[in-house]
Amino acid sequence: MMKSVRVVVVGAGVIGFSTAVCIVEALPFCSVTLMADKFSPDTTSDGAAGILFAAQFPDIPLQRQRCWFKDSFDHLLAITQSQCAPEAGVMLSSGWQIFKEVPAVKKPFWSEFVIGFRLMTDVELKRFPDHKFGQAFTTLKCECSTYLPWLEKRFRKAGGQVEQRKVNNLQELSNSFDIIVNCSGLGSKVLVGDTQVYPVRGQVLKVEAPWVQHFIRDGDGTTYIYPGIRSVTIGGTRQEGDWRLQVDDRDTKGILERCSRLEPSLNKAKILSEWVGLRPSRKNPRVEREVVELQGRPVPVVHNYGHGGWGVTLAWGTALDTLGLVKQSLCEMAPQPKL
Ligand code: FAD
Repeated sequence: MMKSVRVVVVGAGVIGFSTAVCIVEALPFCSVTLMADKFSPDTTSDGAAGILFAAQFPDIPLQRQRCWFKDSFDHLLAITQSQCAPEAGVMLSSGWQIFKEVPAVKKPFWSEFVIGFRLMTDVELKRFPDHKFGQAFTTLKCECSTYLPWLEKRFRKAGGQVEQRKVNNLQELSNSFDIIVNCSGLGSKVLVGDTQVYPVRGQVLKVEAPWVQHFIRDGDGTTYIYPGIRSVTIGGTRQEGDWRLQVDDRDTKGILERCSRLEPSLNKAKILSEWVGLRPSRKNPRVEREVVELQGRPVPVVHNYGHGGWGVTLAWGTALDTLGLVKQSLCEMAPQPKL
């Protein structure tokens, strides 16, 4: 079949690969190229704990956020129920989110999509004497250092092409592609000059503690323990506007102290690795389309970036939305019938 429309997706993190897979599988008449300067294991997505839950963004209709969550959850849940689960790095994960003070919203908007959401009983909370309130549920954990190579395989199998290259500006792409899809995360600050995107630095440790089987997250988002397939990720930090990628020993100490307070047995755990990532944050993620004049030609540009601390959670849902925006661009590009 003649592939008549050339689409480029910039970004090889969980947002870029999810989006590229959705496009290449849904639109066989498009040739799809994924372009990025960094690939797994060197993206932010690779180090994310990859646990699925989310905070609410202020200016995006709640119904749209619910769809993003549900579409992602259902997609990954289906993977856990298939033979692909180990190869894709996706698992179910049960545990607790606990709060020092009773939160204003006791049931988050995603509570009906995770499995078995309920409030913790007083007896269960006794384990956490500094906390007054808690939620128990089963969610998913998607380990991107495994999931990204799996998505890349799926993308290539569907005919997608991959190119390692830094894109300095969108003009560079306008001669070779008809539609540009921007999934460059924090890179959008420079690539499309978005001053609203900023880093929130996060440091985590991977430890060996196979006896820890439940996740524990403090609702304030600073302290968490997420058991994974091969190790337990413990964290963390949320340092806004901090671009440092080096491990900070004071952060390591703080993480170990805070996590051991929640799960004292972690004092006995061996540290396997330390890692820092910069969450590509924005007041609201940007999932929208525009037409940009590039080299004298109007080119559709579809954006999908700025997911902050929830990119793994929202990747598939926002990728499906982005596919919809690409389809709209295709409709507008279709030759108009001559009158
Ligand atoms: P990235 O993974 O950063 O990918 C961006 C891609 O764009 C890269 O390939 C990069 O090379 C490319 N790029 C950028 N600029 C250019 C350019 N000019 N030219 C070419 N290529 C370019 N999320 C969750 O949902 N659950 C969690 O439990 C979770 N835990 C986290 C823990 C930590 C410590 C951190 C730091 C983050 C965590 N996150 C979590 C958030 C998650 O990691 C991010 O939201 C997600 O990785 C963003 O994905 P992305 O694809 O937008 O960005």
